[in-house]
Amino acid sequence: MNRTDITSTEEISVYGFTDEGKQKLEEVRQFMADHIYPNEEEYYEQYEALDNVHATPAIMDKLKAAARERGLWNMFIPHLDPDAPGTKLSNLDYAPISEELGKVPFASEALNCSAPDTGNMEILNLYGSDAVKERWLAPLLDGEIRSAFSMTEPDVASSDASNIELRIQRDGDEYVLNGKKWFSSNALRPECKVLIVMGKTDPDGPRHRQQAMIAVDSESPGISFGRDPKVFGYHDRGGHPEVIYQDVRVPADNILGGEGEGFAISQARLGPGRIHHCMRSIGVAERALELMIKRSLQRETFGRLVAQHGVVQDQIARSRIEIDQARQYVLYVAHLMDTVGNKSAAQEISGIKVSVPNMALDVIDRAIQVHGAAGVTQFTPLAHMWAHMRTLRIADGPDEVHKMTIARREIKRHSPDFRMFDVDDGSISRPGVG
Ligand SMILES: Cc1cc2nc3c(=O)[nH]c(=O)nc-3n(C[C@H](O)[C@H](O)[C@H](O)COP(=O)(O)OP(=O)(O)OC[C@H]3O[C@@H](n4cnc5c(N)ncnc54)[C@H](O)[C@@H]3O)c2cc1C
Repeated sequence: MNRTDITSTEEISVYGFTDEGKQKLEEVRQFMADHIYPNEEEYYEQYEALDNVHATPAIMDKLKAAARERGLWNMFIPHLDPDAPGTKLSNLDYAPISEELGKVPFASEALNCSAPDTGNMEILNLYGSDAVKERWLAPLLDGEIRSAFSMTEPDVASSDASNIELRIQRDGDEYVLNGKKWFSSNALRPECKVLIVMGKTDPDGPRHRQQAMIAVDSESPGISFGRDPKVFGYHDRGGHPEVIYQDVRVPADNILGGEGEGFAISQARLGPGRIHHCMRSIGVAERALELMIKRSLQRETFGRLVAQHGVVQDQIARSRIEIDQARQYVLYVAHLMDTVGNKSAAQEISGIKVSVPNMALDVIDRAIQVHGAAGVTQFTPLAHMWAHMRTLRIADGPDEVHKMTIARREIKRHSPDFRMFDVDDGSISRPGVG
């Protein structure tokens, strides 16, 4: 093989992708070529024509059927039950697949691999009772319903999850929920049937044993929706609404894991959820670089192609270097998750959670610059890409909190008794979620 033939992650990585993983990656690339890229325009035209900004363009059902028929379905859960639908690929094998899907915003959904359902399915799979799994996990795995994760609250700083106030109180064989959330992404989708809610069962317990998570039927009496924030002026499909829980009664069996387990579960959920965002973000950056180069080859300034200006070549070269660095970091973390487990890889998961979206933002920003005015319009995907990528510096825990947890562990290696704060700081190893 010539060096110039090497175009993809698995060919240049030092990690051992399985033959099945390589095969699935090829199939996903073919699926993108056959079904996703040719339908990009159609998807957005259908979306623009919808009355409800949170509804799903009709073409999505066709794409899902085509993906499932090819066995490209639920590719993100390594530890699914043997008879559950999905490929059961490792995190490492899934990484380049997710990168491919990241190149088009709606592609992951077609393969039932999109956030926030991926993280939510992980939680239900690990912590749901048999009844909860039957009611919500099975239809989620089948792509029939969608879900939302409801932790962040408008009235408290939720990047410190010990601040959250929603109460989950036991009453006989039910729990009663009272409180207000927002940024429960996806909750306004007509297909969203289950909310995973984090609240306090024991406000007087140790700081990180006060919380629990519970699966809640989205149509339960007592649930209502408030404001629906736009993001940088965009309506994200599914929304990030305020959700008001007023005396919402939930069967006790719906508790996930048990009372006091909320923090520990958020750790389990957020590892996979976070790395999936990073894998997709590499794909976003690749697409932005491709657009940057194509544009620079189309237009001339001062007597030469934009691509012939050294400054632009510097932007292209830096982007290639930074994408390749970030990709190897993500693959390393995927390998760690597969080999030592999500909890032991928490430090490195925080590392990619900070570095990859920042890298992708820089690449997108350069691509916008090379496009001139067109780069900030709706006529290229770049502006929307940037807006979405910028949110990843906040969602699933802000950069600063992840850096704090990394620094804490690093400092403790040299000073085991070190404490960040005068309060019990056990909870800060698990930054706020979303
Ligand atoms: C697009 C999007 C989607 C989201 N989806 C979900 C979802 O589905 N479910 C959900 O529950 N939540 C979701 N969230 C919410 C997200 O998880 C929270 O916004 C995040 O955890 C931060 O909480 P906060 O907004 O309350 O900010 P705050 O906690 O008020 O923090 C504000 C800022 O304070 C600074 N800060 C905080 N701690 C430190 C520190 N230790 N050191 C230095 N600076 C610090 C940071 O700059 C931080 O951004 C989403 C957010 C976005 C933007």
